[in-house]
Amino acid sequence: MSYTITLVPGDGIGPEVAGAAVRVLGATGIGFEWEAQPAGASALAEHGSALPPQTLESIRRNKVALKGPTGTPVGTGHRSVNVELRKALDLYANLRPVATLPGVKSRYDGVDIIVVRENTEDLYSGLEHVVVPGVVESIKIITEKASTRIARFAFDYARTHGRKRVTAIHKANIMKLSDGLFLDCCRRTAAGFPEVTYDEMIVDNACMQLVLDPTRFDMLLLENLYGDIVSDLCAGFIGGLGMAPGANIGESVAVFEAVHGSAPDIAGKNMANPMALILSAAMMLDHLGEHDAADRVRGAVRSALAEGQKLTRDLGGTAGTTEIAEAIAARV
Ligand code: NAD
Repeated sequence: MSYTITLVPGDGIGPEVAGAAVRVLGATGIGFEWEAQPAGASALAEHGSALPPQTLESIRRNKVALKGPTGTPVGTGHRSVNVELRKALDLYANLRPVATLPGVKSRYDGVDIIVVRENTEDLYSGLEHVVVPGVVESIKIITEKASTRIARFAFDYARTHGRKRVTAIHKANIMKLSDGLFLDCCRRTAAGFPEVTYDEMIVDNACMQLVLDPTRFDMLLLENLYGDIVSDLCAGFIGGLGMAPGANIGESVAVFEAVHGSAPDIAGKNMANPMALILSAAMMLDHLGEHDAADRVRGAVRSALAEGQKLTRDLGGTAGTTEIAEAIAARV
């Protein structure tokens, strides 16, 4: 079997970790044809757009993409490529598994949480304007359609993967209408899945409970903003952003990318931990139905970690990105 996949290397450490993931996937023996496409700040400079139409067309055509991080200027400049991509391709579900891996130093043990984040609306709708000088308004959009769809995704995932509990995280005590609607949709969906326990937690308390004992949680179901923040918090339980994989999933298209950003502080230094994107690539293999190869890639990451020699600086080692990629590829 051979697959044509869109590869978006992105900005900063993106090309380094994307190269590492491609190297590891090459070792699986599965045929991949990579269609490299530009996106991000580098694409803006070269193609006049941070998300050129050719990149979107390629992903639409191939239905699957592996993406490195893309940089977004703070406060000014172009809109986030990620937000645009997720909206343009209707990648409504952001799936971020957070699981303890052997050999990774962490204050926590036995963490196994699935974060499901709504990916298309909330405060990320990009609706902001100046009301009068000195006053701005950002509009939070929550719809019944998107909330029900993400709740359905989470409960379907729980059912097919044998997860026992879904916790909806919210702030409906303050945002009674918007988060209230989100909760309504979660509750109605939960009623159709009696085998999965459903509960709710206010987001500030949830952060505190997570930090005290993350092993109490199974699946988290969140709107876009809370999901963005809480999934980075959860990455801290398993060794940091270098270890946290992710997927953006729509009805027909899926884009696999790590939780981390373009890490400009370490870009171009062969210091980035490629494991997050390699584990995202394993999620991509599962999506393609290549479960045996996905298990081999995850096993190779575990084995490299357990040996303790092949660690990047974020995990307390001295190995480089390329060295890690070679070590994992050899084990695959
Ligand atoms: P970041 O994730 O890039 O970096 C945060 C910290 O984690 C940095 O110290 C960085 O060195 C470290 N880090 C991140 N990934 C690492 C890895 N693989 N190995 C080792 N260390 C790693 O977050 P930031 O600094 O807030 O954002 C930088 C840029 O990335 C911004 O322009 C932001 O918009 C963008 N961003 C993109 C995505 C994406 O494309 N999906 C996600 C988040 C942030």
